[in-house]
Amino acid sequence: MNEKEKLLIIQNYLDEILPDAGCELTYSSDYGFLISVMLSAQCTDKKVNAVTEPFFAKYKSLKEVDELSIEEVEKLIKSLGLYKNKAKNIKGITHDLITKFDGKVPEDKEKLTSLPGVGNKTANVVRAELFKIPEFPVDTHVERVSKRLGLVNENDDVLKIEKKLQKLFDEKNWIKLHHQFIHFGRYFCKAISPKCDECKLRGICKKTSQK
Ligand code: SF4
Repeated sequence: MNEKEKLLIIQNYLDEILPDAGCELTYSSDYGFLISVMLSAQCTDKKVNAVTEPFFAKYKSLKEVDELSIEEVEKLIKSLGLYKNKAKNIKGITHDLITKFDGKVPEDKEKLTSLPGVGNKTANVVRAELFKIPEFPVDTHVERVSKRLGLVNENDDVLKIEKKLQKLFDEKNWIKLHHQFIHFGRYFCKAISPKCDECKLRGICKKTSQK
């Protein structure tokens, strides 16, 4: 099987089992989404939604969020890991959005990554979700799935993985594939006890071929 055929098999299978994979973070504003993605570091989307839904229902504008004290923010997001740092980031993000970006989430990657707690992956997720700019953000699921399927090398870092995936797949499919890889990693190709028995990618999977 050549590489083109392998990529097609992966895409067809993901289309078959995850035709509607999308973002699982709930949000009602652009800044709310940006904050949610920042909060999702080392946290499940489910946990983030449980915090952000009541948070943004109570504080309905960027200004209202910005006016909260750091202690108030900490209290609101306390159930999340690294909440002290994340509270500082929320304060920094709202302040910078208001003072530097006219209250709007910028789409420019450099501007996005200038915001506290916003790294390359968060910026890519925001660009893909809010602005539909082709990106292939690499999180822990995308990394694991890409390695198991032999699309990247075992010791590649996230930036290398991102570049390789962008080269392998057609740009028009990056956003959809990124969601499908996340869902596949989250619900099928899990870190522990992946559902290999029912997986149609067994034939090309490096993990199962090592058994
Ligand atoms: S066979 Fe198992 S490890 Fe390999 S891609 Fe499928 S679920 Fe993941």
